[in-house]
Amino acid sequence: MREGEKMEPASDSNLSVPPRGARRASQLYLFSLPMEGEKMEESRETVPQVWKGVSEKEWNDWRWQLRHRITTLEQLKEIIDLTTEEIEGIKHSKGRLALAVTPYFTSLMDPTNPNCPIRRQAIPRIEEIHLSKSEMVDPLGEDKHAPVPGLVHRYPDRVLLLVTDQCAVYCRYCTRRRLVGSSERSITQGNFEEVLKYLKNHRKVRDVLLSGGDPLLLENERLEEILSRLRALPHIEILRIGTRVPVTLPQRITGGLVRMLKKYHPLMISIHFTHPKEITDQVRRACGELADGGFPLGSQTVLLKGINDKPYIMKKLVQELLKIRVRPYYIYQCDLVMGTEHFRTSVATGIQIMGKLRGYTTGYAVPTYVVDAPGGGGKIPLQPDYVVSRGKGKIVLRNYEGRIFEYPEPNILEFKKKRPMGEEKAIPKKVTA
Ligand code: SF4
Repeated sequence: MREGEKMEPASDSNLSVPPRGARRASQLYLFSLPMEGEKMEESRETVPQVWKGVSEKEWNDWRWQLRHRITTLEQLKEIIDLTTEEIEGIKHSKGRLALAVTPYFTSLMDPTNPNCPIRRQAIPRIEEIHLSKSEMVDPLGEDKHAPVPGLVHRYPDRVLLLVTDQCAVYCRYCTRRRLVGSSERSITQGNFEEVLKYLKNHRKVRDVLLSGGDPLLLENERLEEILSRLRALPHIEILRIGTRVPVTLPQRITGGLVRMLKKYHPLMISIHFTHPKEITDQVRRACGELADGGFPLGSQTVLLKGINDKPYIMKKLVQELLKIRVRPYYIYQCDLVMGTEHFRTSVATGIQIMGKLRGYTTGYAVPTYVVDAPGGGGKIPLQPDYVVSRGKGKIVLRNYEGRIFEYPEPNILEFKKKRPMGEEKAIPKKVTA
């Protein structure tokens, strides 16, 4: 694509596709400006040699991308200079979390740098076989809150519905690694009927979050059946979809999908972003289509050691997200999932990053940093301590630069005492039309 040219939206028939070689040129230097003296990874969609003969139409067809996912060591070796740690990791991933990466996401990897953030997220490493004592199979205690298979009901007014166990790419730090990728199937009709029956009997539930796996990997017809039947329940006010597809398989965001989803507003979409390198022209287009469809877009980011645990990377990510109309929503402390200790940072690192965002960039770009309480206690927000002390009649606060300010609290008791006698009577208790 030439500079200034507009990328055509993908369509279900994939008839309009951008010229691939030119597109790469426009993406080459997206993040070439280093920040705070650090080198920022460049965003680059470089089609590896093995797919050079693939037509534009195929490359932009999400089903082609899914069919051609990299799932074996042999396939990956042809594209990436694998390290011993990665080779051993892939060998040991059998029977654990499967390896699967779309050709598109593979094309963002640096084939010679094992610390490439895209590569670190998707290629297993030998560290995964190390299990620490604190890790759990089901770190958020979802299974014990599942009244019906596929439905997690932990909070009074909302539920989580796991509609498939398939993802376009399996993230090595996935909280649901106990479930995802095992059969690559969607929820059975029988289980879905059970879910509907349960929801009909629980009228306090007003919000359903579709997740998995990735709900956007379902065919439009199946996804529409699920959405329409949920929407038909009068007490379900809000539908939400949690997805990583706009990042790992942006070709899936087609006009047909958006038109179908638009029928089920209010529908919110939470997108799992991890690193600024993920924001390519393809992703911009996908998020633009979703934003134009009227879906409020939020991002959820897992804090990952060696991937995004530096303030300048997180700042770049949240700023780039706002530019594509995605509101940074949560930064998650990495859950205590089996085999993921090498991804975990200290909580202090997360708090420090928040301290470098608040005040230093647009408030809209500042997400909430949360620890999802181990065992199922829900999200606990954390931030730097801005309260220096609480005294009688005042609170002492610190701003983002460390400057100290006093805020006098209103003295309600004093105020009441000073009120002239009989004033209460003069204020009408009830105003009637
Ligand atoms: S996309 Fe989400 S559910 Fe799928 S592997 Fe990644 S983190 Fe897990």
